[in-house]
Amino acid sequence: MQDLRKTKNKKGFTLVEVIIVLVILVILAAILVPSYAAYVDKTKVTRCKVQRAELSQKFLAMYHYDDEIRKCTSEDEVIAITGQDVAQYMLDNKYYEGSIICPVHGQPYGFRFTYKNNSPKGEFLCGCVPETDDFSVFEAISKRIAAAYTGWDRSDVIRSVYEEYGGLPEVNGDVLSGTGFTGATMYWRPYYLGNRTSVVFYGVDISYEDNPQGLWRGKVLSIDGRIYVNTSGNYSIAGFYNYNNVSELLNSSSFRNNFTEKQD
Ligand SMILES: [Zn+2]
Repeated sequence: MQDLRKTKNKKGFTLVEVIIVLVILVILAAILVPSYAAYVDKTKVTRCKVQRAELSQKFLAMYHYDDEIRKCTSEDEVIAITGQDVAQYMLDNKYYEGSIICPVHGQPYGFRFTYKNNSPKGEFLCGCVPETDDFSVFEAISKRIAAAYTGWDRSDVIRSVYEEYGGLPEVNGDVLSGTGFTGATMYWRPYYLGNRTSVVFYGVDISYEDNPQGLWRGKVLSIDGRIYVNTSGNYSIAGFYNYNNVSELLNSSSFRNNFTEKQD
């Protein structure tokens, strides 16, 4: 009888053993599941980066190939031809094959066109890539929010951007050096022009927390990747809504009388 009981015990597990195994499994799952999720996320982030690099490359090919696009020297001019979603245009016109949606966020990309020293550059912006500099993420969020906004108060757009971005980016010290505002602490705010698709950025030396509403005294401006300095010190940009797009703004006398482009 005693021998029989021993064999029986060897074959089965005690309740305590089963519980220990279950506890170990739960602990392992807790460790492995998030790291697997992080792994999947990392692959998606890389895929997003590759997609955007390819889009940039193909954009340049399209730029040189297309007779009309080749004449563009500003973002507005490009968008007037392609529409707001440049990647979609490239896909529709067979300049690009592949996905135009970020695999992490499931959203279309923001777009930035710069034209410096006669060389065009099209960048596709997304918030999911860690090495993207903060300002381009802020730019992409601002443009998306401005384009979707249907009200009239530009403070609403600033507030939405502030909430989604989690603050307003500080104006880089390099931007301010040699401008007469050297060493000042400033923050960028977005401002959309009459057409709502052109967004310019103005730097003010007061934080959003101190004054979230209507403070339009832009001391420096960032427009299509170029920096403009307010030479009259305190000029209000509140009238910029009168201009439909960037070229109208840059060619206006009130802009030219108050701002000069900062040279590198
Ligand atoms: Zn992405």
